[in-house]
Amino acid sequence: MATDPRSPAAGVGLRGSRCSGCAVTVCPAEDACPRCGGPADAAVLQGTGTLWTWTVQRYAPKSPPYRIPPDGFEPFALGYVELAEGVRVAAVLDVDDLDDIRIGMPLTVTAGDGVPRARPASPGEEGT
Ligand SMILES: [Zn+2]
Repeated sequence: MATDPRSPAAGVGLRGSRCSGCAVTVCPAEDACPRCGGPADAAVLQGTGTLWTWTVQRYAPKSPPYRIPPDGFEPFALGYVELAEGVRVAAVLDVDDLDDIRIGMPLTVTAGDGVPRARPASPGEEGT
């Protein structure tokens, strides 16, 4: 499915790049392919994948770049999501309960404010 970068949905899409030679996809986008050095074209990733690994950030990261929320720091989960394109991206995991996180759980990743955000995929979005 082709994605028009000007479509409204592109505003939350993850921006990566895809090599025109060996078809390797990377995120965040790079001008050259990390595998073969060939030219890479901008691509908007599907943003669906599964949790590869994760950890809980229990203290406030260095600021800047981290901005402490107005109502104070709360521990949050940070993970690597393996996308359908085969690329792993670091993302903040937006879950209601940190105890619900499981490796392999289906996630939907969107471009966040600096760091991508991942939330559990709703049942209708799960891949087969
Ligand atoms: Zn390549």
